[in-house]
Amino acid sequence: MIRASCDAKTFNFQGDKNTFGTLPGLPESGGTCPGATTGPGGCLHVAAGRCIPDCYALKICKLRHKVENILQQNTALLLDESVDLRAEFIEEFDTFLRVFNKKKGPKPDKPFYRLFWSGDIPNKRVAVALAGAIKKFDKKINFWGYTRSFSIPGVLPPLLKLRNLVLFLSLDPCNEKEGLKAYRKALSRGAKLRIAYMSKTKPVVPGIRFTHCPVDTGVMPLKGACLINCRKCVEHSNVAIWFQS
Ligand code: SF4
Ligand code: SF4
Repeated sequence: MIRASCDAKTFNFQGDKNTFGTLPGLPESGGTCPGATTGPGGCLHVAAGRCIPDCYALKICKLRHKVENILQQNTALLLDESVDLRAEFIEEFDTFLRVFNKKKGPKPDKPFYRLFWSGDIPNKRVAVALAGAIKKFDKKINFWGYTRSFSIPGVLPPLLKLRNLVLFLSLDPCNEKEGLKAYRKALSRGAKLRIAYMSKTKPVVPGIRFTHCPVDTGVMPLKGACLINCRKCVEHSNVAIWFQS
């Protein structure tokens, strides 16, 4: 069973478990992020004078071992080839939807679910299973997520034509070139795809308009930011998001 998490930035309402995560880091270190970047400006780069990289999920794992245990369990499940992953995702999304529908009081008009608050899509098998489950909830749940796994064979194609998924390619100075290539190729084939960019200063990319994440620049408090106060990431749009690192 997938173990979901509550993330104060992305919840539909206080206590809502509308996301799940897996272990952050490269597969050779036990993580689920084959596209994680290690050069200067990358999410796993350790800058001079610091002992851990920018990856927010690794920082949380260092501080909260109970969270790390949950990510470990989800990672083991996703990498176990004997598991029917599509069925596991469907069970998780069914549970989420039941809780959302029962909830009284203030909540967004539609249920939103964030994919992978930690970790990333590790391989084609997971991408295919996830896409199959997301499709089953078309018109019932709106999904969004960010991925650096765009160069892993077979990961992007099953996710590109889902009407209820807003997918971002997660770029930084290390993977910008290959990410933009994948982005432009997908757009030329009619796919819906967005760009997120992590960097210290606002990125400049010809033909792409960026807006900042108001939480990262300190303009908006974290609690309830994504679905209650901001919503820049959760609808299909051609605006790219800059996450200030
Ligand atoms: S891809 Fe995301 S979760 Fe994975 S190491 Fe990089 S920032 Fe962390
Ligand atoms: S830009 Fe808005 S919706 Fe996107 S991550 Fe930041 S707060 Fe959330």
